[in-house]
Amino acid sequence: MRTHSAGGIVISYYPAEARIDLSAIRSNLSSVREAAGEAAVLAVVKADAYGHGRAEVARALAPAADYLGAAQLGEALALREEVGPGPRILTWIFAPGAPLAQALRADVELSAGAFWAIDEIARAARETGTTAKVHLKVDTGMARGGFNLADVAEASRRLRALQADGLLAVVGLWSHLARADEPESGATERQIERFEQARAAARSEGIEPEILHLAASGGALWHPAARYDMVRPGIVLYGLSPNPEVATARELGLTPAMELSASLILERGVPAQTPISYGHTEKTEAPTRLGVVPLGYGDGIPRAASGVGPVSVGGVRTRIRGRVCMDQFVVDVPEAATAGDTAFLFGAGDLPSADEWAQACGTIGYEIVTRLGARVPRRYHG
Ligand SMILES: *Cc1c(COP(=O)(O)O)cnc(C)c1O
Repeated sequence: MRTHSAGGIVISYYPAEARIDLSAIRSNLSSVREAAGEAAVLAVVKADAYGHGRAEVARALAPAADYLGAAQLGEALALREEVGPGPRILTWIFAPGAPLAQALRADVELSAGAFWAIDEIARAARETGTTAKVHLKVDTGMARGGFNLADVAEASRRLRALQADGLLAVVGLWSHLARADEPESGATERQIERFEQARAAARSEGIEPEILHLAASGGALWHPAARYDMVRPGIVLYGLSPNPEVATARELGLTPAMELSASLILERGVPAQTPISYGHTEKTEAPTRLGVVPLGYGDGIPRAASGVGPVSVGGVRTRIRGRVCMDQFVVDVPEAATAGDTAFLFGAGDLPSADEWAQACGTIGYEIVTRLGARVPRRYHG
């Protein structure tokens, strides 16, 4: 099961795997579409689809999504190769000197959130003889990407002139929310107000894009006024909650799409007072059965999970004992466990969830799945 062979030759072997449920991802997309009402959906597949594998996930989502989104230009170019011509793709992170001509030839739509970006997009359009599709980005309260409100009119003037020359078409106006996962913070309402001001400033310069978009998962779920023409969900597609304290994935009707497991490579009984792993950070209190799981921080297992990461072996919930090492960790196992048994780290149903891992490690579910290392094979089903 953990070996792939071709003509009897082993081409890959690893004692652990991440099983990815593509039908769960499709069903999570339907759930968010339902929650978002009339809004179109841009499915975010950045960072290797949050660790799930971009090509497979994008191919599963493309028929049902209105757009695909990847943060980095390089990811967007690879994504175009993977899904072929047709699906609309938006990307928003590139630096001065980026290969924008390549993006335009690949029909990748570009965010413009700085004057240099407008200039470089126009140059690339001239060079390629294409019309760039541009999404004007405004910073409405994150101090991250996009024009300051005060610069939106000037940016719109420049875009309008380039649009008149046929070099580009402003198809979107967009921004990003800082605290959509805290529905009571008031911050989202303030950002919506600024977004409206940006919209008015652009309109006064003759820029009225057809697609306004502001909301990622948290906004799509919890701020109806932020949905506009399109929402940009990421984390909910993978079956995790943007904020489990507001609503858990289960309460949101989402199915976690990644199940991480490994074969125990060793089990043994040890007496009370046995120190465990590097640094001897803990000792057994009583005679104990310990197992060894061949996954470590070299696979993206957080070292912060030392002593606390939840694991399921033989249907029993246990936890990591002592420090997580680069390639392995020690875990409590039930009496009957033997080498070769499967240890589940997280998944759907009764297994520990990635959100529980996040809580145990002091981080967010996003990081738990996204950091899973390239060394761990992904296997697809559904
Ligand atoms: C990552 C990202 C998203 C998706 O965010 P989620 O919280 O995972 O839904 C949407 N838009 C932008 C600009 C992003 O960077």
